[in-house]
Amino acid sequence: GAARPVLALEDFHVAYGAVEAVHGVALHIDEGEIVTVIGPNGAGKTTLLAAAMGLLPSRGRLRLGGEVIARPSVEAMVARGVALVPERRELFGEMSVEDNLLLGGFYRWRTGRRDQRARMAEVFAIFPRLQERRTQWASTLSGGERQMLAIGRALMARPRLLMLDEPSLGLAPLIVREVLQVVGALRTQGVSVLLVEQNARAALQVADRGYVLETGRVALQGPAAELLHDRRIIDTYLGLG
Ligand code: ATP
Repeated sequence: GAARPVLALEDFHVAYGAVEAVHGVALHIDEGEIVTVIGPNGAGKTTLLAAAMGLLPSRGRLRLGGEVIARPSVEAMVARGVALVPERRELFGEMSVEDNLLLGGFYRWRTGRRDQRARMAEVFAIFPRLQERRTQWASTLSGGERQMLAIGRALMARPRLLMLDEPSLGLAPLIVREVLQVVGALRTQGVSVLLVEQNARAALQVADRGYVLETGRVALQGPAAELLHDRRIIDTYLGLG
């Protein structure tokens, strides 16, 4: 990878108490790249993402744009332009789409109200559907719309790196494609993406590169187009199609 990746993990370990779940992972995301981490249930994908966001303690090395972060914390990551969309999406159901978005920009105090409105207009340009539903309660949105709102809310903070935990979870195939297409388009907006997915095919179709995580270790890695045609990946993760 480049000398100054947006995010680089080296010899990265994460443990729950005495039980280690991630065993010395190395991965990096370069500027403008969409990188996916695929792998089966329990491989450690969510754990890896949570630790990279500073939500779980880790051991090893984490670098952001050339800066070594000695003790990753959510505050340190947010301050350096990293945003996480967790698997559970965590929207405020009894608040409007607009208010959910405004909360996403809340971290950037100094930007003020006017800038938040401007940013919201940009997010609406990315997700026109959210604009149509802007006064609706989040709890009344469809699954796909809720995922768009969760991503849109993260984008309100103008992150340099967006980390997504299984955005396809619970969505119909057509909606998965729609959501991931938007994720792919973020490339042109100066946002780099780390995409954790169990839906290997959909993830590899949108990503530039991929890592296969198996029982807490990187088993395979490479350009997404190559992984899509890798016999081991086809047999294990892509089924017949
Ligand atoms: P899934 O796609 O099912 O979420 P995953 O690849 O994200 O799987 P993780 O959820 O990161 O995998 O789990 C990795 C390992 O860590 C599993 O063995 C899991 O049982 C264990 N684990 C996860 N959360 C905890 C926890 N809070 N306490 C103890 N062990 C945990």
